[in-house]
Amino acid sequence: MAFINPNLEASYYHSEGENIACDLCPHRCVLPPEKFGICKSRKNADGKLVAYNYGRVSSLAVDPIEKKPLYHYHPGTSIFSVGGIGCNLHCSYCQNYSISQSPIGKKRTTYKSPSDLAALCRQQGLSQIAFTYNEPMIWFEYMRDLMEQAPDLDLVVVSNGMINEDPMKELCRSAKAMNIDVKSFDQSFYTKLCGGDLEAVKTSCEVAYASKVHLELTYLVIPGYNDDPETVRRFVQWAQEYLSPEIPIHFTRFHPDYNMSDVRLTPVDTLLRLKSIAQNEGMHYVYVGNVMTDDDSNTFCPECGKLLIRRTGYRVDILGLEGDRCAFCKHRINIIR
Ligand code: SF4
Repeated sequence: MAFINPNLEASYYHSEGENIACDLCPHRCVLPPEKFGICKSRKNADGKLVAYNYGRVSSLAVDPIEKKPLYHYHPGTSIFSVGGIGCNLHCSYCQNYSISQSPIGKKRTTYKSPSDLAALCRQQGLSQIAFTYNEPMIWFEYMRDLMEQAPDLDLVVVSNGMINEDPMKELCRSAKAMNIDVKSFDQSFYTKLCGGDLEAVKTSCEVAYASKVHLELTYLVIPGYNDDPETVRRFVQWAQEYLSPEIPIHFTRFHPDYNMSDVRLTPVDTLLRLKSIAQNEGMHYVYVGNVMTDDDSNTFCPECGKLLIRRTGYRVDILGLEGDRCAFCKHRINIIR
């Protein structure tokens, strides 16, 4: 089939003379004629902001929902997962750099209209779709159009949280669940390693939570870069105060990649120490990821301490839930089934 791409006019921008100012994400790029923004996806074309990445799919898969990671949203189910190309961050350690850091046209993609994508999801017998693998916020119009055309699907967004407040509020009207990366609780980390803005990420998490989108947070622990206990303590104190102690937090293991292949794997002891800090600060559901330990991916009732869900790799055994309540003490669990 011939390649069809509408090169759709983007939303959230305004003109500044012959330049275009993009208002989608905190970079607020000002684009001279015929130039792309930092995400290498949106371009000033003839005085309009055009989303050149619209519908350009690089990856399609059916994944366990735990892989996103989402542990408290329909645990044990599968989710149709789609990735595009590009990112508005440039993390030195990106584990998906082959798609996230490729400019449009440098990586093979296939155009899927929103209705094609919805049909593919349904053909798999699935009603949950995750925008994941690269940064979905720069696919804002594609997600919006999918939801307009297929409101029966549940939209899940796995994101770095780098989006401005107004588009985030709009997205939260249709998204059902999000996992947002908090990459560090130190702006200098965001500046030096990612080119991002911690305050914007915090605001996105707060907007998602206030909008009643199911929210989980991921903190990838990089030895010597963001594993300082006091930094992590400030992160979980914020999560507790501005979100909720009920928000699941995933401390995941770094493996050497991209421009940081000389940094070692995160020691398991470090992950466990940070997990303890989060629990001692009062977070109820704290997990370690990308590593196998005895109990640290399992869900326990915060009230009676009984085992509710056992996870072994991506195998999920629901042992102690009745709906969203602990089967033993009837305490309500922050979980959607
Ligand atoms: S979405 Fe892209 S073009 Fe728009 S401000 Fe962010 S990086 Fe710049």
